[in-house]
Order: sequence, then C-alpha cells, then structure tokens
Amino acid sequence: MPRAETVVLKLRPPGRAKRAWLDRTAELFRQGTQLGLDAALGMATSSRAKIHTATYASIRALGLPSDYCRMAVNQAVQLARSHFGLRKSKQQAGKPTAVRSQGIGLGTNAYKVVGTALRLSTGVQGVYIWLPLCVPQHWRDRLQYVRGDARLFRRGDEWFVMLPLKMPNTPTVRDGNGETVIGVDLGIVRLATAKHPNGVFIANGKAIRHTREGYASLRRRYQRHRRLDRVRAMKGKERRWMTDLNHKVSRGLVDLAARYPNPVLAFEKLDGIRDRIRGSKRFNRMVASWAFRQLADFVLYKAERAGVRVIFVDPRKTSRTCPKCGHATRANRTTQADFRCVACGYQGNADVVASLNIAGVAAGLLRQGPPDTARPSAAPRCGAGQAAPAGERLDGVKVWASVHADSNLESSV
Ligand SMILES: [Zn+2]
Repeated sequence: MPRAETVVLKLRPPGRAKRAWLDRTAELFRQGTQLGLDAALGMATSSRAKIHTATYASIRALGLPSDYCRMAVNQAVQLARSHFGLRKSKQQAGKPTAVRSQGIGLGTNAYKVVGTALRLSTGVQGVYIWLPLCVPQHWRDRLQYVRGDARLFRRGDEWFVMLPLKMPNTPTVRDGNGETVIGVDLGIVRLATAKHPNGVFIANGKAIRHTREGYASLRRRYQRHRRLDRVRAMKGKERRWMTDLNHKVSRGLVDLAARYPNPVLAFEKLDGIRDRIRGSKRFNRMVASWAFRQLADFVLYKAERAGVRVIFVDPRKTSRTCPKCGHATRANRTTQADFRCVACGYQGNADVVASLNIAGVAAGLLRQGPPDTARPSAAPRCGAGQAAPAGERLDGVKVWASVHADSNLESSV
C-alpha cells in the first residue's frame, strides 16, 4: 500500500495572460460548481451520478474545459454532502454556495507535473498552459509520485497548487522528530556510504583502495630491502593522502546533509571499530580505524559550523538487519557487497543497507529524547541497538523519499 501525502507548492508568478486564464477558469469552475450544487439541493440528493447527469452539459456550456467539468461536479457533491450532513446533525446550515477561493479542481487528466512545472490542459488538444513551480531542492524527486486529483488556488496575489502524492512503501531515509537523519556506513572497500533522500553518497572506494594498495605494495618492497627510512617516509605520505581525502569526504558529507531540513548525520560508534573490520590485514585495520576516527573528527568540526548535528549509535546488527522488515540474521548478508533478506526478500547493496539501519537506530534515539551529539567517545548508549524497520510508520514520524538501493548509486569525491 502506497502512503498518501499532500504537498502545497507555490507557482512562480505567472505572467499576465496566464493570470487572466487562471482567474477566468477559477470563475467558470465556481459557476460550474454552483450549478451542480443548485441541482443537488433542488433534487435533495448528493448522488454523484444524478448530479452529473443533470448538470454536466450546462457546466460544459459555460465554457469550462471538459477536463475540469468532472471536478466541478465532484466539488458540488462534496459541498452538498457536507450540507446534508450538517442538516442531519441538526446544526445550523445556511444554503451553501460555491466560492472562488476554493480554486480550480484538477482531475488527473487536467494536469501533469513535468520536471518542476505544472502542465495544465486547456481543453484544446495539444495546447497547454505551463506553470513553473517553486520546488525546494529536497522536494524534487518526490514529484515523481504525484498521482490523483489536485487543486489550484489563489491567496492574495499568489497562486498555489495542492498535489497528492502516493509514496511507495520502500525502506526510506529516516526522520526522527522532523530531522533528516542520514546514516553513514564506514568501510574499507568504500570509505563512506550514505543513503540520503535524493540518492546515495559514496566516497569512491575503488580509487581509494587502489591508492592504498599502491602504498602497501611499495611499503612491502621497502621493508624487504630494509629501507626503513623509506618505509617511514611512505607512512607519512600515506597519512597525508588519507588526511586530504578525509577533508574532502567530510566536506562532502556535511555539505550533503546541510541541503536537507534539520539535518543529522549518524555514524556507528567508533569504539572497537578496529576489531569489527573484518577480512583485512592487521595493518590495514589499524590504518582504517585511524582514518575513520580522523574522518569523524573532521565531520564533527565541519558539521558544527554548518549547523548539522552528528550522532553516534551502537552498530550492532546494522549490517545484517533488513531495513524493510527488521529481520536480523547473518544469513541476510550473502556476500561482502550484497544484502538479501531471508524473510521478505528485500535486496540491496550491503553498504546502503547499513547506512539505512544506522539512520534507523539514530532516528529511534532522536524520538526517545534529546541525544548527545558530541564526540565519538561520548556517544549516547543505545539499548537494543537494533534498527527498527525503516518502512514502518511510527507515531509522529514522517518517512520519506524512496530507496532503490542499487539503481541510483552515485559516486562522490
Ligand atoms: Zn526483510
């Protein structure tokens, strides 16, 4: 079942001709609604079919384009129903009238959202009115889910459109108490993976690993030749490279988060991360855990300046919990890179899944109360440490933006 949501967007100020068309159509829509309403009251019915049959032709004759007539009838039906409802409950109910401020009802055939513009049918085939919308950046990819009847209305000199959304119930980026929570998964193959409402941020793992391996093989060669001075120089060089990389990645993560409302970046707690890094040589684990700490430090100070909160969560089970149904088992993780839920069949990239789960745990903490948003060592303790299923709708929690974990991986850095 898709979830229904509504969004109201402002139109960019329309030019004189479009304004005139909008005002004229709104007036015709009002007149059409009034015709339907009069018929409903006259016949003492709120049956859509009866009102439609009785009035459609005369509404059409007003000059209202056909795509708008059905909605005028619907509007009349609604007004009639609420009027009869009021009378039934013996409340005062004056004769209802259609008013211009109710705007223009847009049936699904009357409009289409194309990019960030509203395309209205004019009743003439192939002739449209284009109305660009003011769409916040973080709203853009939600417009693909616009489905159903909409409404255009005017307040003062400005026009607005109310659009219905049918959001798919796929695992999502979590929202604590109105925060946008973005989980960051740290790894050796990919330094950082972060699912965010508009896609996936990845610190390009291949290039990083390639450079690291280059350093490692050089180091081995110098060690074989007992060139300890060179080994030391190597280590310094690798650290400087890593530091530079961490500056870029942390900048990327903070800039990304800052694009969203009430942003929170969530990381796994770094205590014991060295032991959690699997399948890697001891030296690589040391370098990696140092690199993660440095990355977290850089993120912390950049985030503070940018007004982005940072939260650290218990990482237990974040790599093997299903973000859709919450089932947690090692068997979900088929390979290093792939996640496949044995319970519900949800599939995704393992790093993206971990990122979603970290966000899920963090969102849970945010709902519980004010979290510490401090340093890695002072991170809040998290009880069960299990990510709540991300598709679940909890009290006061808005879940938004769909995830198609593997289809929209984008590289950053
Ligand atoms: Zn599942």
